[in-house]
Amino acid sequence: MSLSCLETLGVTSLVSGDTYFSVLTGNQKVLGEGDKFSVRSPIDGSTLSSFANATPQQLQSVNQDLQEAFKALRVIPAPRRGELVRRIGEEARKYKQELAQVISLEAGKIMPEALGEVQEWIDVCDFAVGQSRMLHGLSIVSERPGHRMMEQWQPLGPVAVITAFNFPMAVWSWNAMLGLICGDPILLKPSEKAPLCALAMYQIAQNVLADMPDIPKAAVSVMIGGRDLGEAIAASDTFPLVSATGSTAMGRAVAQTVAARLGRSLLELGGNNAMIVSDTADLELALRAIVFSAAGTAGQRCTTLRRLICHESVVDGLVSRLAKSYSSLPIGNPLTEGTLVGPLIDENSFNKMQSALEAAKAQGGELVCGGQRVTQGVPEGGFYVQPAIVRIAHDAPIVHEETFAPILYVLTYSDFADAIDIQNEVPQGLSSAVFTESMREAELFMSPAGSDCGIANVNIGTSGAEIGGAFGGEKDTGGGRESGSDAWRNYMRRTTNTVNYGGDLPLAQGIVFE
Ligand code: NAD
Repeated sequence: MSLSCLETLGVTSLVSGDTYFSVLTGNQKVLGEGDKFSVRSPIDGSTLSSFANATPQQLQSVNQDLQEAFKALRVIPAPRRGELVRRIGEEARKYKQELAQVISLEAGKIMPEALGEVQEWIDVCDFAVGQSRMLHGLSIVSERPGHRMMEQWQPLGPVAVITAFNFPMAVWSWNAMLGLICGDPILLKPSEKAPLCALAMYQIAQNVLADMPDIPKAAVSVMIGGRDLGEAIAASDTFPLVSATGSTAMGRAVAQTVAARLGRSLLELGGNNAMIVSDTADLELALRAIVFSAAGTAGQRCTTLRRLICHESVVDGLVSRLAKSYSSLPIGNPLTEGTLVGPLIDENSFNKMQSALEAAKAQGGELVCGGQRVTQGVPEGGFYVQPAIVRIAHDAPIVHEETFAPILYVLTYSDFADAIDIQNEVPQGLSSAVFTESMREAELFMSPAGSDCGIANVNIGTSGAEIGGAFGGEKDTGGGRESGSDAWRNYMRRTTNTVNYGGDLPLAQGIVFE
C-alpha cells in the first residue's frame, strides 16, 4: 500500500527512528515514555506506524504549554483567531485527497466517505470563521436607574478532545475549529487506532501557525495514548472542558471523573438509531436511504441505522428488496474506486458482530442475509463482512445494544404511536428518521410526543448530518451538542456585567441597607 500521502502531508517528519512522536505541542515534539504499540491498517492488517504511549506524567509539561498558550490566545481578537481557522481550512482544501487517504488507511473508510469527512472539516472551518465575528452576548435592561447589564462570552481555557476511531478528523475539527475561535488551546487525544490522522491534522495546523507568530503554537497540541492517558486527561484540572467521543462506557467513566472535579464534559457517545417506515412511505426513497445508513461505512458510524421499524403491510416487500440490494453491494478495498463497503476496524470488531448475530438467533431472530466474512476479492488480512439483516422482536435484548458493525434489525408495527414507542424504548438517543408521506405522522414524529433523539429526520436516513445543525443525542448518547448552531457556547464561559453609570447605589430587589 502506498503511504506517499504521509510524505506529502509532512507526517513522516514527525518521527524518530521508526517511532512517531506522541507528545506534540508546537514547542515540544517527543516520543512517548510508555509501552510501544503498532497501528495496523484495517484494509489488510499491515503495519502503518509505531508509537509509544504518552504517559500521564508527560501530561504535566503539556499542561504547562497549554496554560501559557491560553494566556496569549485569550487576548488575541476573535477575528484574528478566525483568520487562523480560515488558513487551516485552506490547507485542508489543498490536501483534501491526501488527508482522505490517511483516513482510509487508518479507519478503512471508502474514499468518497473519507473525502466527505475532510469536507466536514473544511465546512466547519468556514462556519467557524464567520462565527469568530459573532461571539455575541445579550444586552439586558436593568431594574435599577442609571445601570445597564450585559452578558459577555469569554474564552474558557484549554480544552481536551478525546476522539473515536471512526471519525478521526471530523470530530476533532468540530471541537477544535470552534474552540480555537473561542480562544481555547486544544489538546487532541485521538483513538489509538487512528493516530496518524491526528499527526496529519497537527502538521496542517502547525504549518499555518508557523506563518502566524502572534498565535501560540501549542494552541494545537496532540498526545497519543490509550485509556490511561484519557483517564489522566479527564482528571486534570488544566481542562475546564473535556469533549469525549466514543462508547457509552467510556463517556460514563469520563463524565464521572470530570464531574468529581466540577469540570464540564461534552459527550458524544453511542447510538442505536432507528427509522420508521410507514405504510404511506415512498419505498424507493426509503430503500436508498436504508442501504446507505445501514451498510455505509460498514456499519461503523455513530448514526448508522441499526433498527428498521416497518409497518406490517410493507415489511415483507421491503425486506426482500433490501436483501437483493445487499447482495450486489461492492465490498472490498476502500481505496479502490467503486467499493461501497470497506472493512471492519479489526478482528475484535468482527468477533463482536458474530457474537451479536449468535445472540440475535438465540433470542428468536431470523437471519435474512449476510453476516459472514468475505474473503474473495478483498485484500488478505482485513476483516470484510457481508452486511446482515435480521428479523427480530423489538424487545429482544440484543436489539437494545449498539453493536458497532453492519447489522440491521428489522422490527414491525401496526399502529404509528407504537412505532414511536419502539423507536424510543432503547437507552441511546442519537439519530432517528421517519419515512412517510403523511404530514400528521411526520409532525407527530418531530413533536414533543415524538422521537426522543437529538436528530429526528423526515424522509432522509439517520446518518450523514450537515455541520450547520447542532450534532449529538440524548440519554446514553451523552447529551452533548457539537458542530453548528450555538455549539460554540460550549467552549466559552459567560459573564454577566452590571454597570452603574449613575451617582447613586441602589440595591437590587429594592433592598435598603443603611
Ligand atoms: P472507544 O470508547 O473505545 O474509544 C474512544 C476514545 O476514548 C479513544 O480515544 C480511547 O482511547 C478513549 N478511552 C477509552 N476508555 C477511556 C477512559 N476510561 N477514559 C478516557 N478515555 C478513554 O470508542 P471507539 O471504538 O473508538 O468508537 C466507537 C464508539 O464511538 C461507538 O460507540 C460510536 O457510536 C461512538 N461514536 C459516537 C459519536 C457521536 O458523535 N455520538 C461519533 C463517533 C463515534
